[in-house]
Amino acid sequence: MNKSLSDSISASRQLLQNPYAHLSEGGSFDALPVTSHAQAHAMHGLPQDLIQKYSGQEANTPIKPRYSAIEIELRARSLQASLWKDRDRIWPGATPTNPINVLDPFTALRLLGYDCELDETLGQFHSNGKQVEVAGVLDKSARQVRVSRQFTNAVRSFTAAHELGHALLHDTGTALHRDRPLDGSTPSRMGIELEADKFASFFLMPAKQVQAAFERFFLTDQFTLNETTAFALGQGNHETLSRKCKTLRQLSRMLASAEHYNGVHFISLANQFLVSDEAMAIRLEELGLVAL
Ligand SMILES: [Zn+2]
Repeated sequence: MNKSLSDSISASRQLLQNPYAHLSEGGSFDALPVTSHAQAHAMHGLPQDLIQKYSGQEANTPIKPRYSAIEIELRARSLQASLWKDRDRIWPGATPTNPINVLDPFTALRLLGYDCELDETLGQFHSNGKQVEVAGVLDKSARQVRVSRQFTNAVRSFTAAHELGHALLHDTGTALHRDRPLDGSTPSRMGIELEADKFASFFLMPAKQVQAAFERFFLTDQFTLNETTAFALGQGNHETLSRKCKTLRQLSRMLASAEHYNGVHFISLANQFLVSDEAMAIRLEELGLVAL
C-alpha cells in the first residue's frame, strides 16, 4: 500500500509539471487534460484488457437508489478479491504477498478506467459559512478523480476510497462531485455520502484482515483492560490506564495507534492499513474487537 501510494505520488509529481486540472476561484472546475486516459494508463502500466474487465463489470452492475451495509461490504469484498486474483498482472515485478497491499483505491479507480491523480490543490468551497479545502473531486462523466495533496496520506487514501465508492455505487450525474477531507470519522453523514464512507471503510479495512492483524498483535479476539493487558500495553498500571481510557473510543484509539504489545514492536494497525487512528478505532468497535 505504502509503496503503491508512493509510486502514484511520484508518478503524479511528474504529471503535475503540467497544470492539467484545477478548480477556478469561483469554485467551478476547469479541467485541462493534457494527458489522455490511454497515456495515463500506459504510464501506470495497467493492461488494457484488465481495464476493460473491471470497467465492464462496473457497467453491467445496476445502480440502486440505496444500499444496505451488507450490500456495500459485498461490493468492496468482490473488488478486493479481484485485485488479489489479478495482482501478478496489476503489479508485475512487485506482486503483493500480503492481501493488505492490494487495498489501493488509486489503482482500483484506474482499473475502472478513471484518470486518477493527486493535485497540489483543488481549491475551496463554502460549507456552513466556512471555507473548506476540497480534498477530492469526482467527475463520473469525464471519468476523472483528483485527490488533493494538502492532506495526510490517510486522508488522501480515505478520500480516494470514498470516490471509488461513489464510482461503483452512485449516479452522480454530470455535475462535479466535491468532497471535504475525509478520514472515516465524520459523524452523522447522510445518503450517498454515508454509503461512500462505508464503502471506503470496508475497502480499506476488510474484516478478515483487520481481525487477523488485531489477534496477531493483541493475542485476543476481544481486548479488555485488566492488570495483565495494561502491563502488556506498557502504559502504566490498570488504574492509570483506566483513567486515560474512560470511554470505549479512547481505548480503541489507543489500540489503533499502539506500536508495541507484550514486548513486541509492530507498525500500528492504523498505519498498516493507511487510515487515521480514528477510522481504525471505529472499525475495531464495529468488529467487536474491543470492550470496556
Ligand atoms: Zn462524496
